[in-house]
Amino acid sequence: MLKQVADGVLISESRFIQTTSVVVQGRDGVLLIDPGIEGGELAALADDLQELGQPVVAGFSTHPHWDHVLWHAAFGEAPRYATARCAAAIRDVLSNADWKARVAQVLPPDIAEQIPLDLFGIITGLPDGTTHIPWDGPGVRILEHQAHAAGHAALLIEERGVLVAGDMLSDVLIPFLDLKAADPIGDYLAALRLLEGVADDADVVIPGHGSVGGTGQLLARITQDRAYVQALRDGGVPEDPRIGPSATFGKDWLPGVHERQLQQVSQRTEPGATR
Ligand SMILES: [Zn+2]
Repeated sequence: MLKQVADGVLISESRFIQTTSVVVQGRDGVLLIDPGIEGGELAALADDLQELGQPVVAGFSTHPHWDHVLWHAAFGEAPRYATARCAAAIRDVLSNADWKARVAQVLPPDIAEQIPLDLFGIITGLPDGTTHIPWDGPGVRILEHQAHAAGHAALLIEERGVLVAGDMLSDVLIPFLDLKAADPIGDYLAALRLLEGVADDADVVIPGHGSVGGTGQLLARITQDRAYVQALRDGGVPEDPRIGPSATFGKDWLPGVHERQLQQVSQRTEPGATR
């Protein structure tokens, strides 16, 4: 079910860790950002858009993780964009003859059968330095960074005052670092600074997972994510409602993510550790 969060900006929520898909109304149709997870949810979203008389004219994936690069035939064949780095990462996955089996291994077992992989990752990378998504609608600025995943992009829907944050600034999930990167902590803090730089231009923040935040929430969430990442870096214990007994998803969904991050970050920062 679509819910309006700003003028011409709607969201739909999947049941898998509150994945949020974003629909932006343009002149002749909509831009669809991170479409959703299960086949039934995707088909229902396509139905809703059809009822509104709003064909999908462009797609965008915020980053190259499986839950952000799905698609459904009912959305049609609009171009699906991402940053060049994001597209390259997905191309890498698809270059393995057994990619479907590999992807299937990381899907949540209870809903794996419901996740359609036929149109997985068919994405066009926008040339490096592209500042806006090429489409006929409100300007959507691309804010590329390397936190959480290579080629991750937040999107600022300029005339609507909405920041689509990808997998950052969630009220239910702690920051997930890209532990394969050379400097996961530095990348994360740099990305938070990048998002902070547009805070004056956004009244609404939409995380890839979790609830939409209104006025004042954007800076509060940046502060919360930064405090978590700095605590990891400094070996402290983050006081964070997204971990521990109060956590919405931490316990059953991604058990031990915080502990694993803490362990890996502290190994890296031990004297003599190779980076
Ligand atoms: Zn995600």
